[in-house]
Amino acid sequence: MGIISELQDRRSGESDILLQIFNQSPAIEYLLDPENGQIVDANDAACKFWGFPRQKIQTMRIWEINTSGRKKIEEQFTETKNGISYFYQCQHRIASGEFRDVEVYVNPINVQGRTLNLIIAHDVTDRRRTEESLHLAQRALAAAPVGILIADAQQPDLPIIYANPTFEQLTGYSQAEVLGRNCRFLQGPQRDQPEIQQVRTALKEGRICEVTLRNFKKDGTMFWNQLHIAPVRNDAGTITHFIGAQKDVSSYVAANARIDQLAFYDALTELPNRRLFLDRLANCVSIAQRNNVFGAVVFIDLDNFKNLNDAEGHEIGDELLREMAQRLRQALRQEDTVSRLGGDEFVLLLPALSDDSDISAHMVQTAIARIQKTICEPVVIGTLQHQIAASIGVTLFPKGAESASDLLKQADTAMYRAKAAGRNSVCYFEPTMQAAVSARLNIEHDLRDAMERQDFRMFLQGQVDAAGTVIGAEALIRWHNKEGGLISPMAFIPVAEDTGLIVPMGEWMLRQACRAIKQLEDAGRPIRIAVNVSPRQFRKTDFRDRVAEILRETGANGNLLTLEITEAVVFDNLNEAISKMRELKKLGVHFSIDDFGTGYSSLAYLKKLPLTELKIDKSFIQDAPTDMNDASLVEAILAVASHHGLQVVAEGVETPQHVEFLKERGCPLFQGYYFGRPVPGEEFVNQLLKT
Ligand code: C2E
Ligand code: CA
Ligand code: CA
Repeated sequence: MGIISELQDRRSGESDILLQIFNQSPAIEYLLDPENGQIVDANDAACKFWGFPRQKIQTMRIWEINTSGRKKIEEQFTETKNGISYFYQCQHRIASGEFRDVEVYVNPINVQGRTLNLIIAHDVTDRRRTEESLHLAQRALAAAPVGILIADAQQPDLPIIYANPTFEQLTGYSQAEVLGRNCRFLQGPQRDQPEIQQVRTALKEGRICEVTLRNFKKDGTMFWNQLHIAPVRNDAGTITHFIGAQKDVSSYVAANARIDQLAFYDALTELPNRRLFLDRLANCVSIAQRNNVFGAVVFIDLDNFKNLNDAEGHEIGDELLREMAQRLRQALRQEDTVSRLGGDEFVLLLPALSDDSDISAHMVQTAIARIQKTICEPVVIGTLQHQIAASIGVTLFPKGAESASDLLKQADTAMYRAKAAGRNSVCYFEPTMQAAVSARLNIEHDLRDAMERQDFRMFLQGQVDAAGTVIGAEALIRWHNKEGGLISPMAFIPVAEDTGLIVPMGEWMLRQACRAIKQLEDAGRPIRIAVNVSPRQFRKTDFRDRVAEILRETGANGNLLTLEITEAVVFDNLNEAISKMRELKKLGVHFSIDDFGTGYSSLAYLKKLPLTELKIDKSFIQDAPTDMNDASLVEAILAVASHHGLQVVAEGVETPQHVEFLKERGCPLFQGYYFGRPVPGEEFVNQLLKT
């Protein structure tokens, strides 16, 4: 029987209440005898906590439970004998054998002349463990080998509330500098990385995300940040925080790039290698098949490179290859691939040329002309100058179901044919293209000859007014070839334009026309003669000076000379064209826009240009009497011209219907077979002087 019950027996009432308080107290309470450590009594909570039945407890000494040791406990008891209450922490070993942390308040009380200790104990094991694990978590965060940031998810701009020391080391920012800020300051100027959007979405959706971003340290250096972000939720499942772990993976990224570089690029020139080339080609071929656009593979083999390499040494050879690589790169479009297969072999991929095979072929030819030119320019290495040429093989795709390596073989085959044909030549895998190129090459060759032999003639075609009086003429070039045939300018003007021969040719025509102007004026029958000026000729910086020189040399009146230019020339560079035209205008020269209506047809520029005349293209005149569209276009041009005070010449007037149609609409001037075909210049002059 416990002491409390004894008390209850002796004094009822008051002690009854005391007993109840003692027993039902939720706190663990027990009475000890400090003389011998005997547990005199324990309440229900204590019994439950220790797990021993009360009878057993009343036989136990406290050191059977308190693990502090008998000696230490007895020392403490001496204090209570002096009436001092105290507090301490210790461990209890309970019935299950488990150790529990307890905080103990010891109060000496006097019970019927005996000093007993009333003890109130708290089981703090769980609290202690939580505290410890919190401490551990904190120390772990601080010790983590990755940078850690914690942001408050319940504030709108997710301010940082924690940064660990590794983060400080990683970025150079101290915790104090980053607290309260949003993480985005790490992005520096690189705000448009697609991964950032990924992070934003993940944050919004409360998902884990992993990205590698370009971030910046406090000192401005960039590093690749491998970032893991995870939401932290409370017991209710609400996201309260985000935790981000960051790792500088720059050296890993660099190593990867290096591996890619080695696997896909040529070490000497840094151009894509065969593997990457075939990969891109395969890609382009399937796109080409799907979208019906043409592309080309161009195989380039430098001529006599081996000799140079052997004679001058590999270093010079390497230098030259690097130079060629760079030139090829510069000569091509952004979307083209230049690759080095090894040795002195380069191969180009020109994708997405055009959906028209003729236009594509022409684009390839222009690109190749550019490539040949750049390859042939002298290379200076050290004090020596080298001249390089190349044999070039070309194939177009898609033709059928050729694979990337088939195409490479075709281009290679064509290149071998080019090599066989002699240095510096180009061969096409496609026979039709080869034929077209040969024909063109023949024309080019013959044109140069003709230039030297002066095989050109100036023809003149009259321009008449409504009364049928000849008031002007257009100079048209004719070529008498070796076989005695007349070749149409349509066939050779484009070649002359591409090769630049158009410039001396145009000057020759200008001189002939000026002579005719002078002759007619001297004979008292002055008319204005129009000369066609090619874009390439007009763009030459000394064009004005050349015209001035020819006028001076022939003594022709500039006022009687009209230069026919096309809309394309003007549009190419409007301001430059305007200032050039103004300069020429000072020589008295007039300007006419040829083939008006076929080009940009933006009439806005008309008033900006110092023009005298528009020539309505013959394609509109042909059908104007019968075709509503052409008719209204002709009417519109006439209206615009009269609005701007411009003269109009209708070209290609062939029939009385044409004449009637044009006259009814007030067209002032006519040129065409109906009034006269182009005839040799002398014939035209003689005829005019007779009338
Ligand atoms: P263009 O400047 O439009 O010249 C008018 C063309 O129409 C000339 O062809 C002329 O012979 C032709 N033609 C004249 N009347 C009629 C007609 O009633 N019906 C038809 N169907 N055609 C007519 P051509 O002489 O063959 O010249 C063709 C083009 O070559 C010229 O077109 C011009 O762009 C260019 N061209 C001719 N000579 C020169 C030149 O000296 N320099 C430059 N840069 N280009 C020239
Ligand atoms: Ca013309
Ligand atoms: Ca024309």
